[in-house]
Amino acid sequence: MTTAYLTIDDIPSKLTPSIVDFLNKKQIVPVMFCWCERINYYRQNAIYALKHGILIQNHSLTHPHFSELSFEQAVEEIEKAEEVLESLYKEAGVKRPFKMFRFPFGDKGGKNEAALQEYLKEHGFTQLDQSNILPAEYEKDGAQKNQGDCYDTKWTFDYAEWRVRPNSGFSIEDSISKANARFGAPTSDVPESGAAPAGAKAEQLILIHDHEDTENMYKGYFETLINALLARGVRFVKPVVR
Ligand SMILES: [Zn+2]
Repeated sequence: MTTAYLTIDDIPSKLTPSIVDFLNKKQIVPVMFCWCERINYYRQNAIYALKHGILIQNHSLTHPHFSELSFEQAVEEIEKAEEVLESLYKEAGVKRPFKMFRFPFGDKGGKNEAALQEYLKEHGFTQLDQSNILPAEYEKDGAQKNQGDCYDTKWTFDYAEWRVRPNSGFSIEDSISKANARFGAPTSDVPESGAAPAGAKAEQLILIHDHEDTENMYKGYFETLINALLARGVRFVKPVVR
């Protein structure tokens, strides 16, 4: 068995409620990172996730490349998204137990990287418990070492299903090949519950996206990809912070 956190980027979309229902059925509790300007279109779908026990965290307001922003612009992106999140939690009547942030595109801000880490630290952003995630696992998906020391949240495995677009030459089958390369061939049927045993600590941090454009290319992509990992012995741990 491989234990993992599940993180879902770019929520909300029109798919969000069906993603929530599927994960609830599978007893998988993810962290959702919110592209906060999308709340203007799908506010109730984000509220639906919160009311069904899923944490929503900060993925900026407009999803820019942070290395193209000044420090002040970067902070504004984070703070405006915080305002949106606060109003969402308030409306849902749910307490936000901790604050997390993920940089869009994993772009940590270029020349402002150190200052932004300091900003996140000072403003109470935290990170998932990393005590069982080896730094080498991050490197396998292109991140630098020591992500566990950071105040933003990276990933150890990206399905890369966001690349499934017209004429991209990348298909859902390629995402599944990526899962094979990392976690081996399927070893079981898809289990009813995808939850790791109580007390298990995560060894991986999985990234998938909430994208209507992917659904338009491959109906049911989200379930297909999550089930692909479940059949490879991956089980999901509830988010716990360090
Ligand atoms: Zn994103």
